[in-house]
Amino acid sequence: MNENSYSQLPIGPKKKIALVAHDNKKDDLISWARFNRDALAQHTLYATGTTGMLLTKELDLPVHSFQSGPLGGDLQIGAGIVERAIDCLIFFWDPLEAQPHDPDVKALLRIAVVWNIPVACNRSSADFIITSPLLSSEYNRLLPLEYEAYIRRMES
Ligand code: PGA
Repeated sequence: MNENSYSQLPIGPKKKIALVAHDNKKDDLISWARFNRDALAQHTLYATGTTGMLLTKELDLPVHSFQSGPLGGDLQIGAGIVERAIDCLIFFWDPLEAQPHDPDVKALLRIAVVWNIPVACNRSSADFIITSPLLSSEYNRLLPLEYEAYIRRMES
């Protein structure tokens, strides 16, 4: 990798974490979030509609909820990633059931890779992210140099 072809975009120590779970995965995400409540409480939490409602109730923490996933919530989270309002994604999507909003799911996963944010799509990856020392320290994510002109335009 040629470091010179990348620019660095810092993510602060307090992360803006989006949590999303498809219906068959909601129990999994809730139990994971309950177990990791204290770690999650150090960060700002976002979620799609139904996931957010459940998390607010279970964690007793503020969770900024977007629309429900099938109504556009995944796309709102994707837009948040583009606008740097979200810098980490925990997305327990269901690999065994077709979703009506499959194109949105794909778009969200794609944009998370485009902007090089940490993404966990299952419990073990989520465990690795939540226990990483990087979660509570500043981190410089690398982005292709060509993004820079667009980022500057976004900032002005
Ligand atoms: P929900 O959406 O949290 O509103 O159920 C999740 C999804 O289906 O993407």
